[in-house]
Amino acid sequence: MKILIKDVTAALRTGKGKYSTVKTDICIEGGKIVSVGNIQENYLPDKVINGAGLLALPGLINAHTHVYMTCLRGIADDLPFDEWLFGRILPNEDKLTAKDAYASSLLGCAEMLKSGTTAFLDMHMFPGKSAEAALKTGMRACLSRGLVGSGDDEAGSTRLKQAKAEIAKYGGYDTLSFMLAPHSIYTTDAEYLKKVSEEAKKLNLPLHIHVSESLREVEDCRKKHSKSPVKYLEDLGVFENKVTAAHCVHISDEDIEILAKHNVNVALCPRSNLKLGNGIAPVKKLLDRGINLCVGTDSAASNNTLNLFPDMSLTTLLHKGANMDASAVTAGEVLDMATCNGAKALGINSGELAVGKNADIVMLNTNLPQLEPKNDLISSLCYSANGSEVDTVIINGEIVLKNGRLTKINEKSVCANSEIIIERLIER
Ligand SMILES: [Zn+2]
Repeated sequence: MKILIKDVTAALRTGKGKYSTVKTDICIEGGKIVSVGNIQENYLPDKVINGAGLLALPGLINAHTHVYMTCLRGIADDLPFDEWLFGRILPNEDKLTAKDAYASSLLGCAEMLKSGTTAFLDMHMFPGKSAEAALKTGMRACLSRGLVGSGDDEAGSTRLKQAKAEIAKYGGYDTLSFMLAPHSIYTTDAEYLKKVSEEAKKLNLPLHIHVSESLREVEDCRKKHSKSPVKYLEDLGVFENKVTAAHCVHISDEDIEILAKHNVNVALCPRSNLKLGNGIAPVKKLLDRGINLCVGTDSAASNNTLNLFPDMSLTTLLHKGANMDASAVTAGEVLDMATCNGAKALGINSGELAVGKNADIVMLNTNLPQLEPKNDLISSLCYSANGSEVDTVIINGEIVLKNGRLTKINEKSVCANSEIIIERLIER
């Protein structure tokens, strides 16, 4: 399908953390951006979108989430991390069926699409369900089955087999990609981490793991292994793979050097870290060290939204305040984190409005009070927008949201199905 976006204001990247907004035309063909600016000769679009009053951005990329948990939104709020995870979330997660996980994943995808996210890195416990939800809604997804276990237990091996079977089954879709996901250092042992890491090397897949999310994780690791989680993972050879590490809240200067040395991608999840009382990642130091930072929401059970806009805003504001430096993290740097840096971590050819890139494009209505006057729309994305401005979403050259409405799924029934799940799970 050929789509011409006419007279749109486009956010074009001009350098690291730098953007200009230009009135232009964008041509799409075969799922790719084929021109920005001059319309190619003989280009006959199947569809023309009037971009007047719209701001086109590369689709946002949620670099760490668990979409199957979206139905657990609001069931365990205002609780300490351990009580939240072990006391409330895991027992309720155990009650979820594969059908629930699919319905919950559809809800998560619907929320992300309506707030401008076009791709996500998912860690799940129900093989195939995130994949099916992504295919149904048209989202681009990088999927990783959460791997929990020890080197010699049967359950850990079974999970690894499930991960490989999922990759074999869904590997042929150009909107889906995969990682292996040892869940964390506290839900695996050294043997299992080494096993998964070796398997990832054989399959040429990156790894996705929670790292140094809570202070307790770090203290327990120091007691058990006399080193930090980051050093422990390095010594096990985990960082010989391409890795996306979620959180990295409690990390030392030495840890930062290790992450930089191995080009580890860090998925910041500031709202989740604040809500669970886990703390604030040293983003300024990570940024200064040149680490590829991206932004994730984590799950709706800990955020409690999959809308990236609040996390983008927080990523700028939190570190200006924490460093007492208004230039610590700029709006442009955060837009990089939510687009091209996320694309790098996920290994996808998206994240920028440029020729040859995937046509993953979000358009926001700029004729709204919160974006007026239009002095600096890039700043407004971080400091004024809330995601409700999203009007149109195109993924892989397909229109999946039009005039704020999802084109591939029925939003009402997706919402109603999540209510049915929660009625069953929670004893009221
Ligand atoms: Zn997580």
